[in-house]
Parts: sequence; C-alpha cells; structure tokens
Amino acid sequence: MDKEKLKQKVCATIDSNVAKIAAYAEDVAKEPELGFKEIKTAAKMAAVFDELGIEYRAGLAITGVKGRVHGGKKGPTIAVIGELDAIGCADSLLANPLTGAAHACGHNIQQAAMIGAAYGLVKSGVLADLAGDVVFFGVPAEEYVELDYRKHLRAEGKLHFLHGKGELIYLGEFDDIDMAMQIHSDKNMPKPTVSIGQSSNGFVGKTVQYIGKTAHAADAPDQGINALNAAMLGLMGINALRETFREKDVIRVHPIITKGGDLVNSVPSDVRVETYVRAKTMEAMEATNIKIDAALRAGGAAIGAKVIIDTLPGQLPLICNNTLNNLFVDNAKIANPKVEIKDSGHFSASTDMGDVSHLMPVIHPFIGGTTGLLHTKDFCVVDFDAAAILPAKTFAMMIIDLLADDGMQAKAILAEHKPVLSKEEYVKKLDGYFSK
Ligand SMILES: [Zn+2]
Ligand SMILES: [Zn+2]
Repeated sequence: MDKEKLKQKVCATIDSNVAKIAAYAEDVAKEPELGFKEIKTAAKMAAVFDELGIEYRAGLAITGVKGRVHGGKKGPTIAVIGELDAIGCADSLLANPLTGAAHACGHNIQQAAMIGAAYGLVKSGVLADLAGDVVFFGVPAEEYVELDYRKHLRAEGKLHFLHGKGELIYLGEFDDIDMAMQIHSDKNMPKPTVSIGQSSNGFVGKTVQYIGKTAHAADAPDQGINALNAAMLGLMGINALRETFREKDVIRVHPIITKGGDLVNSVPSDVRVETYVRAKTMEAMEATNIKIDAALRAGGAAIGAKVIIDTLPGQLPLICNNTLNNLFVDNAKIANPKVEIKDSGHFSASTDMGDVSHLMPVIHPFIGGTTGLLHTKDFCVVDFDAAAILPAKTFAMMIIDLLADDGMQAKAILAEHKPVLSKEEYVKKLDGYFSK
C-alpha cells in the first residue's frame, strides 16, 4: 500500500478514537503526580497498552512504562515519548490538595498525543507495511524538582541520576532506540500551531549552605558569624557577575534563599540557597558554574562563614534534528492544512530531552491549542484537537514516512547523524557534575 493510503488509514483510526484519547487526558489530569511518584499515571498508560495488545515493561526508573510494537520487517526503532509527571501548582483548579501537583505543564496532553499515535498505528493495521519498531515510552520525572527527595532515592541506591530520561539512559533503556520524538504544549497559543525550535538551555542544579555562629542578635552580635549576611554577599557576587554573561550564551542564574535564619533575635547560623546555572552550551554552563561557585564562596570568606556547595547534574542543552523537524511540519500540514507554523528559536528553559539529544536524533516541537503560561493556574487546553490529536496524527504519519520503503528515510537520517556523546561518555559527563 502506498504511503498516502497508509496515512489516511491511521488518521481515520485516530479520528474514531478521539473520545478515548480525550478521556485518557482528562483522567490523568484528575490524578496528577510529581516525578518518580507517577504510580497511578503509569497504570493508566499500561491499561491503554493492554487494550491495544502492546507488549510493555513497567517500573523502569521507578515508574516508566515502555511499550514496543513491530513492523512487518526489521528496521530502525523510533520512540514516541510521553512524560508522566505533573508540576507543583497548588492554586490550579485540578491540583492535588495534598501535594499541590497539577498538570500545568501539559504533560497529560503530551501523553494523549503519544497514545493517540499508538491507537492510530496499532488499530489501523499499517504496521505490517513498515520496516522497524515503534516504542511508546511513558517517561517519569521530566521536571527537576524535589531535589532532597531525589537525593534520598539516590542515597538509597534507587536512582543514579535525578531526572527520568537521564536515569533511563543510565539503565540502558535508550540503547535499543535509534531516534526519539515528543511534543510539548505551547503557552498562550490557542490556535492550531506548531512552533519548531532548534535548541534549549541546559543547566546544573546547586544547593548551598552557609554555616555561621549564632549569638544574641542584640546583646552579643560581635560574638556571632552571620550566615545570612554571607549568603546575601554570595548572591550580590552573582549579580555583579551578570555583566560578564554574553548574550549568545543565554545564561540564566536564578537563586532563591530557602532558609534565611531561625529566630529573629539570634544571629543566623544556618542559611540555605538553591540555584540553577543555565546556558545554551555545556561549555558556557561549565565556565559559568565555576564563576558562580567563586562568588558564593566569596560571600562566606568576607564574613568568616563556612560554605558547603552541592552541585548536581541537571539537564543538557537540547539539539533538535532538522530533517525530523521538517518532516514533522510536512505531516502537521496534512493533519490540519490550516495549522500555523512558527519558529520558536532558542528555548531558555530546559528539558531532559536535551540529554537524549546528545545520543540520537530527537525533536521537541511546541504545540498550540492552549492558553495561559506553563506552570501557572491559567494554563489550559482550549482546543483538544489542536493540542493532542494534531500531534498524534503527525507522529503516526511521520513514522509511516520514516519506516516505509524498508525504513529508507529513517536509515538516511541515522547515516547522517553524528552523536555528540556515546552513552558511556554521557554517564561520565553527568557523573562529573556531581560535586560529591
Ligand atoms: Zn514544566
Ligand atoms: Zn513540561
């Protein structure tokens, strides 16, 4: 059967399953869970795999679910990813009242796009005409949050890295995948839109403790060492460095004080700070990280406080594959001829898809049909078809393009692609970012 006919078949199949796909997205939104705790969400995804007869493994990197389907012939393996975790957004209408978790980053929609592609490819029967495998991958913990909890899991030997995709790479769960794609909901983009980006920032995370000496704040401040003053000087040092940040490196350093002291009439002796150090390239991130540590230490040196810096690997900068991006655009136009295509340029936030992008070709387009800013209570889906069905059809049709004709297009992309890092180099690189 020719590719156009196969594409018509998958799109018709997705259209006849829209109610199920929408019910899935709603069901996931009702029970939002934070990273590495997505037990119920993973079970919902597994139930869809059961319904479709997709073989899968669960409990990967604690909650990950990985389904695999086979084409009629052997060939490359393409993964479609759906992130399982919610974000903290306690004032969202759908927030979990106990944890504050809510799907304010649209990961439930991303999952719906992934399972939509699964409904289309599996139920239409088109796989028999393709050469290669498709992995439908429910991946935990994209949001880099609750660091103490994750450090605890690491200390217990339950995690090696602190985000889902990094941990899955470490566990070898990307070893049998050749290329990977996911979408992400866009912000304030109600119309059917595809925003294609090339890159994002990467970052390292950091917790800092200033240890001083307590004393009566009024009677004997001369006997104390004020850890809050040390921390404030550290943050002033960071601000004084900002003029050295080059525009092209898109550096973002955004520290917060998480503990500023204990009691107002005692000199603060234990003050805690957290920050990310973000940049467009690993080189800029690493060079800036050294400067930030020096500034933080200088605050302690000025006051005589001890400074303990714990740096953790965050997420690597994203590098998208142009050929896959173009293929996404071509098929999005078939899925909806009225779709608007935008260039989203460089994304100054980060994603752990960046880590995967150092090993294989990936894409991470932003999809409209939503209003409000990400991570806020105002974020919501106003057009489900634009937000989830359009990318579901686009993924399914892209896979037909990539794996038809003996997988010719997928093989050509892989032949041209030069990975930035091998898996071993990746693990070594990330291990090197841990300061302890
Ligand atoms: Zn997010
Ligand atoms: Zn997100």
